Amino acid sequence: MSVTFRMILSFCMLLSPGLNEASAQMVSNEISSAMSGRIPDEQSTKKISIVIDDFGNRMVGTEAILALPIPLTVAVMPFLRSSKEDAEGAHRRGHEVIIHMPMEPNYGKKEWLGPGALTTDLDDAEIRKRVEAAIANIPHAVGMNNHMGSKVTADRRIMAIVMEVCREHGLFYLDSRTTYKSVIPEVAAAYHVPVLSNKLFLDDRYTQGHIQGQLGLLMQHLQEDQDVIAIGHVGPSGKNVASTLRQWSSEVKNKADFVTASQLISPEERELQILP
Ligand SMILES: [Zn+2]
Repeated sequence: MSVTFRMILSFCMLLSPGLNEASAQMVSNEISSAMSGRIPDEQSTKKISIVIDDFGNRMVGTEAILALPIPLTVAVMPFLRSSKEDAEGAHRRGHEVIIHMPMEPNYGKKEWLGPGALTTDLDDAEIRKRVEAAIANIPHAVGMNNHMGSKVTADRRIMAIVMEVCREHGLFYLDSRTTYKSVIPEVAAAYHVPVLSNKLFLDDRYTQGHIQGQLGLLMQHLQEDQDVIAIGHVGPSGKNVASTLRQWSSEVKNKADFVTASQLISPEERELQILP
């Protein structure tokens, strides 16, 4: 979105009735960043998309992350105590919402998966039912990614059902890449579901030092690539993720644009999606 268009949109929002304080603050932030930033060249500006996983369970760092002054893609787990609240809160602040679908890993405890998870012992009908239920549970969702899932995302039978349902609901899929054996790119292509891929996890270790190091790696990737997606988490690392991202994003905002994940879907993939 161009700065000019964003500003017009912001001013329209200012004029609209019933604007609450939080969105008024967002609007004023948008305007001040639009005023202070350079005019981005849509063709050549590098793009960064930050995705934050594991919302939905009142996890540590939830508020601090939602308050960050950059557009985020917020992945919310279904059927948990703050699933709806977190999805609504993210949407209200202008972030993008996706479903963080719990999927069985090769290693790890079953209780880490949460309710409604996809496991390889379920039959086709039950898989479909669970994906449908998760989509219905998360308001404003425009895409899906996986929570854990090293086993399920390598399973062609299950991922075919997931992609079929995503297609029916017009959702894109972000491959969290928890396994190099992921079948997601090819299965998504077969079902005409736009697919994006995580480049790196920001907080596989929780310290600020590690997160800063990963953000450095992200910028290295951006020298080669036009855009990059990185995933962080609320939870044990949530506060460090929030404070590190806040500082870092103000430093790099003149080198790249922050966008939501869906803004990285190519026009070609969008077109595929609308084919019968
Ligand atoms: Zn997760």
